[in-house]
Parts: sequence; structure tokens; C-alpha cells
Amino acid sequence: MTLTCPHCQQESEHEALSHINIDRNPELRSKVQDLSCFRVKCPNCGETVLAVYPCLYHDMVGQFMVWLWPEEEQSAPHADFDPLAGYTLRIVDSLNAFREKINILDLGLDDRAVEMMKLLLFMRLKHDLDVVEVLFHELDNRTGDFRFVAVLSDGVEQYAAMPGSIYQQLRTDIEERLFTSGKDFARIDLQWAGEALEMLREAE
Ligand SMILES: [Zn+2]
Repeated sequence: MTLTCPHCQQESEHEALSHINIDRNPELRSKVQDLSCFRVKCPNCGETVLAVYPCLYHDMVGQFMVWLWPEEEQSAPHADFDPLAGYTLRIVDSLNAFREKINILDLGLDDRAVEMMKLLLFMRLKHDLDVVEVLFHELDNRTGDFRFVAVLSDGVEQYAAMPGSIYQQLRTDIEERLFTSGKDFARIDLQWAGEALEMLREAE
């Protein structure tokens, strides 16, 4: 991978981590969450740069794959999996979405329900706040609450929680009324959540 340093414009060669098998390299789990495995150091000026390139994350035990496929890359990859394999296949286009998706699937959660929760929270918060993005943060095992981070336009981050009962309800609705193909990498994001919530409302 050739990288042009945004600080000194010098080009340098780096080894790209294009495939992460977390069962073989469990030490990468935390490096994905803090994004350190995507940080490269410019040999010329010593600045650290976040490199975004296609990377496939594979969890064999958890049976999921997340493909980071940056927007500027050509044609997104396709797969033709046997749906009986039981795998969850997702594609995302940013580093934040990549680590968030892995975090959600790592916890064994249904990311479709979580994306819908994010959208509901986003719509609720934007009445009073200039929210740019809502990201899943963690599941509180004690209370069952889902915790999210809302990023505001001035960069300030604010935590917000939603009760697990909302997750359970959405998950039931999804199971009963929505179908997501397991054959190919699906893009389950806020846009998907908007369309899915609309479909659920129409079906009521
Ligand atoms: Zn540099």
C-alpha cells in the first residue's frame, strides 16, 4: 500500500492489513477498537496517519464478517455464500462504522435492531441538539441499557441510553416482518434503518 503523508506529502510503502482473522490473531481485537492497527507512521516526518483501505474482518466463532470498503474504492465486493452457513455478512465504509459494527456483532446483538435504535435516538436528540452522528457504545449488563455516543457538530460527545426493552421489541418486529439475505454483504446503516422502520410502519 502506498500512502501519501498529509503532513509532508512524502510517499511511503506500508504493509496493509487486508484480512483480519480474529480467531487466529485475537490480539488485534483491541487494536481494531482503538484503531491502532490502521495507524501508520510516516518514515519522513514521523507523523502518524490513519490509513483507510479495504479490510475484511472475520470472526469464525462468532460467525460474522465485516468488510471495510471505503467509499472512494471501486466496485464493492460481492459474495455468494450458502445462507445455511449462518454467517452474518456486513459491509461498511468508514473506520468508525467498522469498529462499531464489530463491537455490536461481537456482543451477539442484532445490528439491524441497533441501527434502528440509533435512528430513533438521533431523531429524538436532534430536537434540542445539533447531532451529527450517533454510535453504539456499549451494553450495560447490569441494567440491560444500551449506551450510545452522540457526536455534536462542535465535536462534543454526549452519552445517551435506551432501555433494552426497545431492542427486544424491534428485534421481534424484524424477525417477524423483515428479511435480510445472508448470501451477500449487506449494508445495514442509518439509511437502511430509515427504510426498514418505514416498512414496519406500513405493515402495521
Ligand atoms: Zn510525513
